[in-house]
Amino acid sequence: MNSEGRNQILRRGVSGVPPYDDNNIFAKILRGEIPNRTVYEDEWALAFHDINPQAPVHILVIPKGKYVSFADFSDTASDAEITGLIRAIGHVARMLGYEASGYRLLSNMGPDSHQEVPHLHVHLFAGRPLGPMLVT
Ligand code: AMP
Repeated sequence: MNSEGRNQILRRGVSGVPPYDDNNIFAKILRGEIPNRTVYEDEWALAFHDINPQAPVHILVIPKGKYVSFADFSDTASDAEITGLIRAIGHVARMLGYEASGYRLLSNMGPDSHQEVPHLHVHLFAGRPLGPMLVT
């Protein structure tokens, strides 16, 4: 069974998660159909500059597998995929050199969070004081 078939079966256990849309923009980036400004890539993850940066540094880190949300990813991804994404995020944060001044990780899930792209992604913001955690 290929990984998509496996994901479809495993995803039955996760409620409220829409099916993965192969036409989402990050799927197209992963397939090389549209360009991106890559800062890091390995077997499990791709990190690239956000096209509409909200801070001097605004990177997106995405798993290479087809996952919509954190609930989906944490429930259906393999241990290797989960470890791979987390290590990639840490690697990018260290590589950029913002450990001393700080940075923010943020991940939007679903309509209330204004998630625009239905492929799990973690935003990494840095390069200036980032203000309060939430805009009210
Ligand atoms: P979210 O609202 O959390 O789903 O964030 C989606 C992010 O993807 C936004 O910050 C967009 O600016 C960013 N984005 C959309 N299209 C692209 C693209 N082609 N390359 C890089 N970033 C993108």
